[in-house]
Amino acid sequence: MTANHSSGPAAEQLAAATRLVALGRQERRPGAGVNAPLELSSTYIADGPVNYARGGNPTWSAFEEALGSLEGGEALVFGSGMAAVAAAVGLVPHGGTVVVPAHAYNGTTALLDELAGSGAVVVRRLYADEVGAVGELLDGAAMLWVESPTNPMLEVFDVEALCAAARERGVLTVCDNTFATPLVQQPLSLGADVVLHSVTKYLAGHSDVILGALVTAPTESGRALHARLSRYRLLHGAIAGPMETWLALRGLRTLHLRVERATANARELAARLDGHPSLDRVRYPGFGAILGIEVSGGAEAAERVASATALWTHSTSLGGVESQVERRRRHAGEPDTVPEGLLRLSVGVEDVEDLWRDLDQALRG
Ligand SMILES: *Cc1c(COP(=O)(O)O)cnc(C)c1O
Repeated sequence: MTANHSSGPAAEQLAAATRLVALGRQERRPGAGVNAPLELSSTYIADGPVNYARGGNPTWSAFEEALGSLEGGEALVFGSGMAAVAAAVGLVPHGGTVVVPAHAYNGTTALLDELAGSGAVVVRRLYADEVGAVGELLDGAAMLWVESPTNPMLEVFDVEALCAAARERGVLTVCDNTFATPLVQQPLSLGADVVLHSVTKYLAGHSDVILGALVTAPTESGRALHARLSRYRLLHGAIAGPMETWLALRGLRTLHLRVERATANARELAARLDGHPSLDRVRYPGFGAILGIEVSGGAEAAERVASATALWTHSTSLGGVESQVERRRRHAGEPDTVPEGLLRLSVGVEDVEDLWRDLDQALRG
């Protein structure tokens, strides 16, 4: 870990906003940079704590210190969200069963389906309206995958109840916290064993890097998982570039400001879109900055809206400062339970009146 402020308050006593700004800095000594170093070395002088950069890098450590503290655990940065997904799934023994929400991130379900095809895992799908029967799904399973809110349907699960049901049965829980961010929910405190982030999204926040992370609990079992995941990263080479990690740490400094503004914008837009003559339905879980709107007229009408916006960017991904719109069913990987006319809106930090005018004119065609 990077040295913490030697005489300052312990990180646990600081609010999230302060941790975001203060952690992952260099030791305070005269002449030291205020930012973590961007260390571009593949190898180090012998006999130090790390000898080769596939095993460690000071920029990783700085980012991991900040993210770990926010989630209440110990973080590992990976080369992408999917590299982190693959590492987490790698905890499942050969042929083990994974219970996964039907509307989890489509890369996650695609990977699980591929592994199921070769017999490496067995997949059981959890539907949001069948969550009462999750005990049966968990019996004999090795891993429960939790995503809340789900992508792109924005279903909200009771994460604590799901983790408790899994724990009772000795099932490991991984929670993809990409949509919620640690400012809204900290899954380790709700009983999850591993927290996953596509850092690409809100944490980095500027649509300029692809990066992932896993966080484990500061307990004996959590440390054992951390050691396995760290070894996975080393041996599968699922490592993050120092430059991407440095940019993500820079982005992280303003996470609270971005999430606050984007959430306020999303709330306002959700209220104004409710009952809009061009929409069948508005999905907004009441927190966060992602909305799902179902355009009347299905796929064609929704595509027309997405390409008729001037300010909203018609692009995939989410969590950047700029507002984005995309029809999810244009991707073959989305299940047919996702409506054809569903547009996912990732609300950014622009002025809400400008966002509203642009979206409203696009919807009215
Ligand atoms: C984007 C995303 C991922 C995958 O992350 P990458 O950084 O694109 O590899 C995983 N989970 C969720 C919820 C995502 O939105």
